[in-house]
Amino acid sequence: AEAMAESERLRSALLSSISHDLRTPLATILGAVTSLRSLGGQMSKETQIELLSAIEEETRRMSHFVTNLLDMTRLETPNLEIKRDWVDLADIIRAAVTRARTAWPERQVELAVAPELSLVHGDSGLLEQVVFNLLDNAHKYSPPGSPTRISALARHREILLEVSDEGQGIPPDDLERVFDKFYRVKHGDGRSAGVGLGLAICRGIVTALGGSITAASPVADGKGTRITIRLPVPAAESGA
Ligand code: ATP
Ligand code: MG
Repeated sequence: AEAMAESERLRSALLSSISHDLRTPLATILGAVTSLRSLGGQMSKETQIELLSAIEEETRRMSHFVTNLLDMTRLETPNLEIKRDWVDLADIIRAAVTRARTAWPERQVELAVAPELSLVHGDSGLLEQVVFNLLDNAHKYSPPGSPTRISALARHREILLEVSDEGQGIPPDDLERVFDKFYRVKHGDGRSAGVGLGLAICRGIVTALGGSITAASPVADGKGTRITIRLPVPAAESGA
């Protein structure tokens, strides 16, 4: 009975995370399709191609992500097989920021990416998902009008990626637990949060790539949260 309960929990974890991470691309696709159907006739060729490209890109991203997510859940993190291409983290961060700006148009993101960051060994779709989840949290758990910062720099043989906000922060006892599946901090204001999977997914992906992810709070003036990701730079790249 316990094994069944566990597999039931896994199944619902998978379903919730898929719905969480597919909501944004699905909204983009639906919007583009609706516009094309109702206004396609009056649109310029360029606009039509732009919308079709958005549909194509988001569909590819979704199918890619679902594949990885299914793998991740099936294999359970320790032996996770993850794609390892040479990828440019600066490009990945910019793509995630663009997505976050679309999802949260009223919010401000301050971007500081060091020039000539070395390439990292990883899966660009999954890494973009990690960055997007962190930006999503920073926006969701801080007041409108406060900035979200994202930075990336190389240090020794690591790349350090940080996302910080000026929100309510995370209590000390919860800094480690927020990375557990379904764990959410109980906030006094009773504001509805997510399902508690974003950071668990982030940790699963970052750990599979040989990196680490930690949370610190408060950051300054008794408020704010900073999430730090360390990714190894493979030997072949670290001298370059
Ligand atoms: P999901 O990401 O699955 O939609 P979620 O945001 O609740 O849901 P996580 O991203 O895993 O889940 O975060 C877990 C919990 O950690 C959140 O519910 C929130 O309480 C807390 N948390 C995460 N990021 C921040 C942040 N930047 N500031 C304050 N609290 C945070
Ligand atoms: Mg989240």
